[in-house]
Order: sequence, then C-alpha cells, then structure tokens
Amino acid sequence: MSVEIDIILLKLPNHNIDYPSLSIPTLTRALRNDGITVIQQDVNVELKDILLTQRCLEEITYEFLPAICEYFISDPEEYTRVKNMVIYLNNIDTTIGFGALESVKSQLLERKYKQIFTSTESSNNTLILFTIASLLHNVIDLAITLDELNAPIAQDNVVIRFMKDKIKSIAAINSRIVSFSVLDIQRKATLWFAKRLRKVYQGTIVVGGPDVSIFRDNFIRHYPFINVAFLKESEVSLVKFVQGVPVDTIDGVIYRDIDGTVRINEPKHEPSNSVYRPDFDGFPLDKFLLPTLPISASRGCKWAICKFCVHHQTYTSYYERTASAVVDDIEYFVQKYHTRYFHFTDDMLDITIGTAIARELIQRGLDINILTYARFQNGFTPEILDLWARGGIKVIEWGLESASPRMLKEMAKGISIEKVQTILKDSREKGILNKLMLFHNYPSETIDDFEQTVDFLEKNIEERNVRPFFTIRNKLELRLNSELDHLSQQANQTIFPKRWNTSSIFQSKIEYEDTPDYPVKLHKLEAFLGRMQHLVSSRRVFSTNDENLTLDLVVLDVSAQEDKMCIQSI
Ligand code: SF4
Repeated sequence: MSVEIDIILLKLPNHNIDYPSLSIPTLTRALRNDGITVIQQDVNVELKDILLTQRCLEEITYEFLPAICEYFISDPEEYTRVKNMVIYLNNIDTTIGFGALESVKSQLLERKYKQIFTSTESSNNTLILFTIASLLHNVIDLAITLDELNAPIAQDNVVIRFMKDKIKSIAAINSRIVSFSVLDIQRKATLWFAKRLRKVYQGTIVVGGPDVSIFRDNFIRHYPFINVAFLKESEVSLVKFVQGVPVDTIDGVIYRDIDGTVRINEPKHEPSNSVYRPDFDGFPLDKFLLPTLPISASRGCKWAICKFCVHHQTYTSYYERTASAVVDDIEYFVQKYHTRYFHFTDDMLDITIGTAIARELIQRGLDINILTYARFQNGFTPEILDLWARGGIKVIEWGLESASPRMLKEMAKGISIEKVQTILKDSREKGILNKLMLFHNYPSETIDDFEQTVDFLEKNIEERNVRPFFTIRNKLELRLNSELDHLSQQANQTIFPKRWNTSSIFQSKIEYEDTPDYPVKLHKLEAFLGRMQHLVSSRRVFSTNDENLTLDLVVLDVSAQEDKMCIQSI
C-alpha cells in the first residue's frame, strides 16, 4: 500500500556539495515530529554527483560549453567567460583525465582519506575536483538561463535533461505540497523548476528560506505559480500550514486571499517552539564529498550590530540552546551517521555557550572535529581556548574584516586589534587552526588602513598563527537593508562617492562608486597575493573556500595520524 506524502522538501542548485545544509533536514524533523509524511531531496547534490562523472564532464566540455560559446559569439564578455571554462576543462581532461577525477570522487565518497592525502596525485585531483564542482555552478546557471530564454542550444543538455526528469518524478509522487528552501544562489534554479512543475502538478507550491525573508512578497506578486511564501523560521508555520490551519491565521506567511490580494502576516516566532536536531533520514548523505554534518547551538547573532552585516536578519531574534542538548545531538549523529566531523553553522558561536559545549564534550569523551565561526570576544583567555581545543574545536573562522583599529570602530565590530593578536597566538598554541575573514574597501578605508590589514594577515600567516586564507580579496558588498545601506541613503550622507538604487526585484547587492584611490589598493592586493602564492606552494597548503569549507577538518585529522601528508592546512 503506497503512503500518501504530505510534503516534499526540495533544495535546488546551486550550493556546495562538501556537506549538507541544515535547512531541509531541520524542517523535516519538525514535520515528522507532528506525524506529517515528508520526502526531502537535495536536487543540487544529486545533479552534481551526476555531472562529476567522466561521461558528463565530456559532454559539458566538448558539446555543451562550445555550443554556448557559439551562441555568445557577438557578446565578447560572455564568450570569453565561457571559452575560459572550456579551456580550463579541456586542459584538465588532457593532463589528468576526467576518468581520474571520477576515481578520486569515488575515493572521497568511500571516505578513503588517508589513501587520498598521502598520494600527491590523489590530493591534487581532489582539489581540482572541488574547483570543478565550483565551476559547475556556472554551467548549471548557463543551462537554466538559456533554457528560460528558449535558446535552441539549451534544449538538450545534461543539466536540463536531469532537471526535467526530476520535475516529472516529483509530480508523479503527487504530494499535497512541494516546498523549496531558497538562498540567493538557488533562486534562479528554484523559480525555473517551480514554474515548470506547476504545469504538471496540481498541488500547492511554497517557498521559504533566507532569500524569501529578504524579498518577501516579490515571490508571490511576481510568480503566480507560487502559492505561499514563509518568512524567517518556518518550523511552526509550515507545520500548521501542512496540518490545514487556515493560512490567514498563521504568522510568518505571505499569500493571496480569495480576491487575489497579497497578504502578509508578519512572523512572531517563539524560540521555545524551535526544532534543532536535523533529520537526515532519506537525505543522500553518501553523495556529499565529505562526511561533515552541520549543527547549530544558536540562531541569529548575539552581537548583531556590525554595520555591513545582514546575516542575523535571517531569524526573528537571537536565541540559543543548552550545551547538553547540543552535545546530545552530536552524540546521536556520531552513532547514527558514523561521522566525527561537524560544522557549527551559527553566525558566531558565542563564548559562553561554546565553552559550555566544549566542557560537555570533554566530559562525555567524544573524539570529534569541529569547525565554527566566532567573534573575537574579550573573554577568550588561554584557559578558555584550551577548553575549546580539547572539546574538539579544531578550526575557527574568526570574523575580523579589517585589522585597522579605525575601521573596526567604524564597522562597530567591538574588538581591539591588540586583543585579536593575543587570541590568535593563544588559540594557535592550543592547537586550533585560525582563519581570518576579511574584506577591503569599507567606506573611508584609506590606503594606510588597507595596508595595516595586509601586514597583519601576512605577519600572522608567516608566523603560522593563521591559515593562509585570502578573503581579503573580497570587496565590501553593500547589502540591502544593512545599517550601512540605510545610513548611505540618508540625506547629506557622503559614505560612498555615489550609490545606485536597486534596479531589479531581487537585487540584494547595491552598487556603489569606489574612491579614486581604489586602483592603488588593488595593486597592493595583487602584490600581496603574489607573495603569498610562493609561501603557499612552498608549504603545500591547499586552497580553501566555500566549496571545501570543512576539508581542513579532515586533513588535520588525517595528518594527526600520518606524517606523509601531501597537502597541509597551514
Ligand atoms: S558580522 Fe558576525 S558578529 Fe557582526 S553582526 Fe554579522 S554575524 Fe554578528
């Protein structure tokens, strides 16, 4: 007897494929707790798993992308961008072979890390595999964009074939509801998919996630195939909706009333109703390149005042769990999914809850490896950092942004660079791998401010206090609804020489004009990166980014037992 499915939760491209995200598995848990039947699918990882095979990489390199080049023949910028992808892939196939990449992917999925990272060839191929996984974002994006434009070239390619088959299979399940979790990088594929699903599926289509919380009623006003949008945390609102509670009585939803008028019920989330432990049952964990699992101890940001930041706006407020509940989850995942790698996805793991978790982990004797984000809070003493390290916190990504005291004050970071330096040294001494998140070009940043940041980073990389990690390449992104956005809109403000207003319904990055000295910064940045290139290759440090965020955990873990490592983290 087939079971009627209430809801299918989908995650569309694009996203990284080193480990899963929390969003859908957490909602799955909330729904299943209430007896709702759920299917959860990560379409992104399923598609990329197929694309990262010899057969598909050959189709992309020798058929799909060359045809797109021809399509863009009169658009030099697009033509060059696509042509460069072809050249890169062609070069990889000629020198390494797509078959070798498929082999190393199999090794990663079989979790044979010692075998991989003690072989120069396998280590290099692993890094190339992650680079190609990142390049696939562009391939998928091109396929979807051109299909939406009805370009003949897009009619038959591996991406569109897979996506169309997926639409058919989702429609065939005939659940009452299909739900999409949306980040900005997933919006294009989600809208493409939902529009085509609508033609073959009679049920209700809903969307939620950070992108929906930012662009709110735009999803309902502009896309008639979407029935309801969920704002902020939707564990409670989505459960009520699936249970059949009238939508006009649910908080945190946007819908059309009987007259077609768009109505917005603002969210009123009650943290005590939050569900945290994700449920990965039915999720394709075996297709992710690393065995890391995400977990969270809190939602929102306890600080939440950095002027450029909008991360904390994803949730209604800041709230956190107890340390024992968090460690219960870790213990459960270790037993159930046989992993020892975790990523705390909290905006920043606050020192108090982080320390309590570390104590609990030590007390329970769990041998695990954690990567977390943190802020340079004043309470980070050598003793606290020692606890964090012994608890299994192996990698910390610290949000520093700039090493100029004046800039830190301007941004409202609430930290002093002297304290930052002390924490970094202490942390490294305790065995934690430090990474610094930085960017350049905050308003009023002078060449001198910029050089202070470069010098600070260079010194700490040379002294091995921090891992080579070059987010300083990133230029300030002026985000819609950040405090900086609001300030720069006020009359008489000269924060930017000029700023433009948003020109599309989904524009979250606001364009601004650089100051005349910006080319000097770029020149200095290039010189710094050139110096670092030499250092990184002499130390055999691998490059890390969003695509392989938790690879450090695995490499550090293997290198603790193996001295013939072919790549290093620091
Ligand atoms: S940058 Fe980090 S610490 Fe600052 S408000 Fe955003 S999440 Fe919080």
